[in-house]
Amino acid sequence: MAKATRVWLLDSGSLVIDQSHITWNVGAGNPVRFPVYSVLIEHPDGLFLFDTGFDEDLVNEKLAFELPQQTAAQTIPAQLELAGFSTDDVDAVVNSHLHFDHCGGNKHLTRATTYLHEDEIRAARSPEPFEVLGYADRSWDHPGAAFSLLSGDVELARGLHLFYTPGHTAGHYSLLVELDGRNPLLFMADVAYTPAAYAKDQQAGFHRDPVAGVRSIRRIRQLAKHWDADIFFTHDMDTYKTYRLAPDFYAGS
Ligand code: ZN
Repeated sequence: MAKATRVWLLDSGSLVIDQSHITWNVGAGNPVRFPVYSVLIEHPDGLFLFDTGFDEDLVNEKLAFELPQQTAAQTIPAQLELAGFSTDDVDAVVNSHLHFDHCGGNKHLTRATTYLHEDEIRAARSPEPFEVLGYADRSWDHPGAAFSLLSGDVELARGLHLFYTPGHTAGHYSLLVELDGRNPLLFMADVAYTPAAYAKDQQAGFHRDPVAGVRSIRRIRQLAKHWDADIFFTHDMDTYKTYRLAPDFYAGS
């Protein structure tokens, strides 16, 4: 069985939050613009999309204070096209979690099966009061959506690993993609937002369980070491500028 062949980062634009949400309780009063992106994986078993960015209209309606910036070229359909695909080509959507900036494009991918942790779908459908805004986009729960619920660590396809990393949300997954001839790519999603936060075990201000969140940061560190993986930060503008974005891609040999 073969591994994934190409990986694209699909740009979804950017949002603004206060520094104290990036590094829990630290740095209040400093607004920070941060990137949002999705990960498209070409694999012999199918075309996988890890997270789907945010929907600009939804954010303007419900979280306008996050000052969304998204061009027409930064929507999921346009980004897929940039990588040479259409929305109908996507076989599987995997949501790290269901916060609005990770699932806003699910509704475009009507042919795909949606994979996510069983606890995440429950939390998003019936959020705690402090999680209502985070789960403000419910468009992933469209009538045609087919869900495949997961628990624990899962190898979804050869070399495509989901690691259970709760804390930020109830059912959070991180993704590791093996590629032939190079280090695996490790996408920790929202376990920690920036390299500085990760280095200090600082999770984001938005979290369900802070103790589990710290354990998950440490788990990512162990995984990165074990797999000799290249870590990708999800919401950090400085490192984002160094990543290859679609139509450019990361490829196995
Ligand atoms: Zn999140």
